[in-house]
Amino acid sequence: MSKQSKTEQPSAKEALRLNWRAAKIWWELMPKVLIYKAWGAFFEASAPYLSLWFSAQLLGEVAGARRMDRMILLAVLAALSGAVFMGAAAVFRRLYNAEDMMDSTSFWFLLARKMQSMDFARLDDPKTKELYDRIVQVDNFASWGLRRTLGDIENGLPIVFRILGGVILSVTLFTQRVPEGSALAWLNSPLMGLGFGAALLAAALLAPLFFSKAEAYFARYSDMGTASNRFFSFFGYIAFKERSRALDIRTYAQDGFFGPQYLSNNTFDESSQIARWCRGPIGLDIAAGTAVTRSITGIAYVYVCLKAWAGAFGVGQIAQYVGAITSLAGGVSELLRSLAILRTNTVYLRTVFEFLDLTNDMYQGSLTTEKRSDREYDVEFRHVSFRYPGSGNWALKDVNLKFKVGERLAVVGPNGSGKTTMIKLLCRMYDPTEGEILLNGINIRKYDYDQYLAIFSVVFQDFQLLSQPLGENVAGAMEYDRKRARNALETAGLAGRLESLPQGLDTYLYRDFDTSGVEVSGGEAQKIAIARALYKDAPFIVLDEPTAALDPIAEAEVYAGFDTLIEDRTAIYISHRLSSCKFCDRIAVFENGSIVQSGTHDGLLAEAGGTYERLWEAQAQYYT
Ligand code: ADP
Repeated sequence: MSKQSKTEQPSAKEALRLNWRAAKIWWELMPKVLIYKAWGAFFEASAPYLSLWFSAQLLGEVAGARRMDRMILLAVLAALSGAVFMGAAAVFRRLYNAEDMMDSTSFWFLLARKMQSMDFARLDDPKTKELYDRIVQVDNFASWGLRRTLGDIENGLPIVFRILGGVILSVTLFTQRVPEGSALAWLNSPLMGLGFGAALLAAALLAPLFFSKAEAYFARYSDMGTASNRFFSFFGYIAFKERSRALDIRTYAQDGFFGPQYLSNNTFDESSQIARWCRGPIGLDIAAGTAVTRSITGIAYVYVCLKAWAGAFGVGQIAQYVGAITSLAGGVSELLRSLAILRTNTVYLRTVFEFLDLTNDMYQGSLTTEKRSDREYDVEFRHVSFRYPGSGNWALKDVNLKFKVGERLAVVGPNGSGKTTMIKLLCRMYDPTEGEILLNGINIRKYDYDQYLAIFSVVFQDFQLLSQPLGENVAGAMEYDRKRARNALETAGLAGRLESLPQGLDTYLYRDFDTSGVEVSGGEAQKIAIARALYKDAPFIVLDEPTAALDPIAEAEVYAGFDTLIEDRTAIYISHRLSSCKFCDRIAVFENGSIVQSGTHDGLLAEAGGTYERLWEAQAQYYT
């Protein structure tokens, strides 16, 4: 975490560095858009100058030599060039608008890819979530952050071309001299030019000060609105979008939270602070900024007309110079205003980069796990203790455990005794705080992470299926072996259900992407998850409460088919139903993060007064 406070004013150097980095990200994400934008800006900014220049020539001709052929030529060229430039600008605008729609997709994918690549422990860290929430919040609130940079580029490019064009068309205003001997010859003095330039610059600098003062109110408000925004995001759409919450929300009328809480936060309505600011200081600042901007034209007229009157140039050029100078000064004002926005946005870019720069601290080894057809892998927990990041309590304490190849190990114990945590460590979602886990005698940290993970098929308690076709869910891929998928589903006990599905393996689960998708029950979902684990065909299969959502008949079926299900895999099997553990070769009993007993069902029952006996008795009364 950076030590910098979230809202500390960035230095110009930091602003430059972060905005440049943001621009580079967009250049990598969508280079074509930036190229189109640059060309679009060039044509759009140049077109008015072209017509200004041609009008000046025309006016000069009308007031001077009055050659008809030249006037016609100028008029035709003015019309033609205007049409070509504006047309080209429109073409590029269309091109980038078509691509621009991808900006939010690219942005969210960028964040998603970062999340996906994070260590599990990092992902789980509340600080990570806080950063992510802040990025989402300011993006929703006023599009601050990375996406603002894209807007800044779009606004900034025309400003640059506008300033360049203005300079080119107004240079001769200073070089063309009033004839010597004229009463106004003092206008030729360089001091006069400088004085005029200074007055213009002062006005051009003053205007953006007013505008950025107004802008700053919004930035301040985005911090003040954090709570309301979270609240609004949650109750405005998240809560209602999540299928799993729908029942709760209805049963407990949780939508009632929304109105009063939201109103009491008072962030977005007309009595809110921002609304009051808009009616007060923000409005005044914007009015003052606009008035100063307008005064620039007045100053330009005085200087230009005086020089023209004294004979420095013809009447035609009055329009050119006044137009060019007004546009140039406006460009400078806008540039400054944009720079102020850039600076404000730097604060939000800090959050974005802090998130993107989160490091993975988990050591990743490079040893291969060698694909063994004999599945001869043995795993050992050696004095493993573990605390969740940020937690003071030991979730596991000095766990020693060895899985023999082909063994079926049951893990039982009261809620919160550490069973799932043990699985999470086994799958290296976290590294042990103390002790080590060994695969074939070597610390698992030394293996290539992906290869290590490939050894395990896990059905977590809170597994999730995708709203994709059944077969793709089972295979975890869009291209897959249909026969194998069907076999896995049959082994998991879904043969009958598969028959009944109109499109078999191609039937969509849920209706998010296909209106003819099927809703599956909790039990069916669990079987699909088991089938997915079987399809993966890893040497270890880990089932966390595999039958929790099944009815007793389905449960009995799963146990009856357990041998076919497991085959020669090493199975680790977490269960609350002790009757199901009888199938297992060995049972490890967890309590308070430690293994307190280990043995076979009969052996453990014989240990009078043990945890296993206690758990068994508690359940047996319902079954006998
Ligand atoms: P079991 O699977 O036996 O029900 P768990 O392994 O889920 O138990 O939990 C063991 C202990 O670790 C519990 O005290 C639980 O509160 C704690 N715990 C589980 N997950 C987390 C987490 N993500 N952060 C902090 N503590 C956790």
